[in-house]
Amino acid sequence: MRLPEGLDVRVGGPAGEFHASLRESFPECAEAAVRFYREAAEVADALRRAARRAPALAEASRLQILKLAAAAPRLAPRILAARGDAAATHLAGTSARFRHFIDAQLQLYAQVPSDSCAYLYAAVALTEPLRGMYALGGGGQALADALAESIKKSGGTVRLDTTALKLAFDESGRAAGVTLLSGETVGTTRAVVSNLTVWDTYGKLVGADHTPAGLRSRLKQLKGWGAYQIFVSLEEDAAGRLPSDKVLALSDPRGGESFDAESSLFMLGAAPAWDARAPAGRRSATVSAFTDAEQWFSFHSDESEHEEQDARSLEALWARVHAALPELGAGAEVFETATPRTFYEHTRRRLGMVGGVGQSLGAFGANAPTHRTHVPNLLMVGDTVFPGNGVAAVTHSALVAADELAPVRGK
Ligand SMILES: Cc1cc2nc3c(=O)[nH]c(=O)nc-3n(C[C@H](O)[C@H](O)[C@H](O)COP(=O)(O)OP(=O)(O)OC[C@H]3O[C@@H](n4cnc5c(N)ncnc54)[C@H](O)[C@@H]3O)c2cc1C
Repeated sequence: MRLPEGLDVRVGGPAGEFHASLRESFPECAEAAVRFYREAAEVADALRRAARRAPALAEASRLQILKLAAAAPRLAPRILAARGDAAATHLAGTSARFRHFIDAQLQLYAQVPSDSCAYLYAAVALTEPLRGMYALGGGGQALADALAESIKKSGGTVRLDTTALKLAFDESGRAAGVTLLSGETVGTTRAVVSNLTVWDTYGKLVGADHTPAGLRSRLKQLKGWGAYQIFVSLEEDAAGRLPSDKVLALSDPRGGESFDAESSLFMLGAAPAWDARAPAGRRSATVSAFTDAEQWFSFHSDESEHEEQDARSLEALWARVHAALPELGAGAEVFETATPRTFYEHTRRRLGMVGGVGQSLGAFGANAPTHRTHVPNLLMVGDTVFPGNGVAAVTHSALVAADELAPVRGK
């Protein structure tokens, strides 16, 4: 992570090294910063163990919670007591600089900063990079290809460019199948699993008529962010001058205490040298920043206004990238951009929102949207349901749904 003053903090590596770099980078609150991470690591390890035993942790029964607590007698009281805490509660004694270092990472992983992020979520998210991060050879496309291949091998069918329009219901209110844009209905014998966002699962598939009013208003309260992205062609030399292939850069445009996701933060991610995904001597890279998705859909009377907003955003973000990462020099070239409208056009996610639901206390733990819906045989997976955003979390959500649909015998 690059701090506003240009200092780099490596978030990774063995605990001892990481703690030493925290002490060096945040001398004004060194011990409090290390204590925060130590406690978070202990809590997170216990939660990871619990999630392995009971993957659907957000819906664990009282009995399951008692059993899980009994398996971690030393930490359980602390974890249970912290269920209603925001991460900021645990940052007492740390400096504003350190809190912004935490805010920036939480914004990326949880979509909300420390004053609203649930502490237990924060503990897991913040310590994940310290356990080691992975890059996929071939990028996200390789994952999609492997998934499609696996579905076919297991006897399934993959249909591309096939829009699911709405659920078909039987007389008892169960899902009987999915009606496609083409008018065809694909029937189900057992269940429908939706990987649309929680907003679209209800707004489109289930439909307002079948969604209880209380749930409709709850969905309106759940917030997500849009992303503004620049696709970059990076010279290998410029990539080599960066402190890491992944840099989360925090600037301080207001020079004050406040953290602002839209103007303070961007992420540069370069493809690894061993999988450059670009012509010789170059690497593909993306710059991603948070943007309020809604404002890309309102106030546009024609397409040229969207283009102007895109051009303004590009100019402002590109200037921030060069100010924060001067070592890029002339070695980075803009290829293309993506706005929430682009995300919407490619994925049909509501308002092109990505990154799931902000992990504030109101959307965490027992309050989290989960794989269960009020339609008995409609299940959800994906980044807007428990446990949250990212390939690993989405995979966990699929495991939860699979456990429910096809429980492993003896479990
Ligand atoms: C800029 C950016 C960078 C990221 N980087 C990382 C990273 O480095 N590591 C990481 O782990 N995660 C990363 N993520 C997060 C990760 O991409 C998401 O968590 C993940 O893709 C969510 O998976 P999903 O299946 O829930 O949703 P999606 O990936 O959006 O998949 C949903 C699919 O359903 C399709 N769909 C929608 N509506 C319909 C319909 N009506 N009919 C048929 N199909 C439909 C969509 O087109 C889409 O293909 C990043 C996200 C962003 C935006």
